[in-house]
Amino acid sequence: MTKPRLVVAVLLVGAMLSGLACDHEKDSAQGQPTPAVVPDTSAPPRNLPPDSGPPPKFDGDRAMQCVQDIVKFGPRPLGSANHKKVENYLLSRLQGDEVENDTFTADTPAGKFPVHNIIAKFPGTKDGIIVVASHYDTNYPLRDTAYVGANDGGSSSAILLGLADQLRSKPRTGYSVWLVWDDAEEAMKPETEMPFLDDSLYGINHLAEKWQADGTLKKIKAFLLADMVGDADLSIERDANSTPWLENVIYEAASRLGYQSHFFERNNQVSDDHIPFMKRGVACADLIDFMYGYNNVFWHTPQDTVDKLSSKSLEIVGAVILETMSILDKMEPLPPK
Ligand SMILES: [Zn+2]
Repeated sequence: MTKPRLVVAVLLVGAMLSGLACDHEKDSAQGQPTPAVVPDTSAPPRNLPPDSGPPPKFDGDRAMQCVQDIVKFGPRPLGSANHKKVENYLLSRLQGDEVENDTFTADTPAGKFPVHNIIAKFPGTKDGIIVVASHYDTNYPLRDTAYVGANDGGSSSAILLGLADQLRSKPRTGYSVWLVWDDAEEAMKPETEMPFLDDSLYGINHLAEKWQADGTLKKIKAFLLADMVGDADLSIERDANSTPWLENVIYEAASRLGYQSHFFERNNQVSDDHIPFMKRGVACADLIDFMYGYNNVFWHTPQDTVDKLSSKSLEIVGAVILETMSILDKMEPLPPK
């Protein structure tokens, strides 16, 4: 237990430093990333299948085009006409797929709003589901600015569209994959007025509750979350709020593709859409790069635009998710959470 304690200590110091550096609570994350002092070897992946077969291919240029399509609508806060346009855009890209629309009204501190989670389901041959999620809304308090969330919400939503293109192209041998574009992730009030976790994650909380009630939750083998994954200077953090063995599988997948230098240089502890599933005992991993510009300066600003992103970063994250799914398919049995 020595190593985990050391990692926790580093995280605490990081949280204290970030408290000095900025006084607002993070949406999507708490604290600034800290350098990784030791790799987390507390839970090495078990039953890793051999590295076999051709590496997955993911079209980063096509994903970048999707980011551009999404941001072209402008800010897409909850309840806006632009939000509706993005919903329709996502659905138009999923025509012919099995799509579940999870809609409800959220009672938020800013009033009642329609919320629309979009789930595309791609059946596999194995019993069980891998969920890959991304939020697609933009921050409500920034609704009257030019904030379009190219990286925050745009990049990961585009990667999921790219995954859908791959998944529909050939039948899956492995677990079923459900892609979730979750809604109302962002806070409705400025963080100075309400803690993030009390005023966010409306869509994904609803889905986690629903899937717990109808028994779906028990079938979920892994919940992979992508958020802020398009930064041209890509450096995905190891997240202390994620499941260590699943994070290690992601690192293994990245290493097999030669992309490991973009993963886990830093540690972080992130409050993001995976939290409702973590709380319910599902193995989760959050792929997030919460250092968007130095000190995360572009995050939640009108400077979160496509020129900060790269097709290569989208390709790396898309391919690593595909490789992670392929490793999970072959791990028998999957470790408990
Ligand atoms: Zn955000």
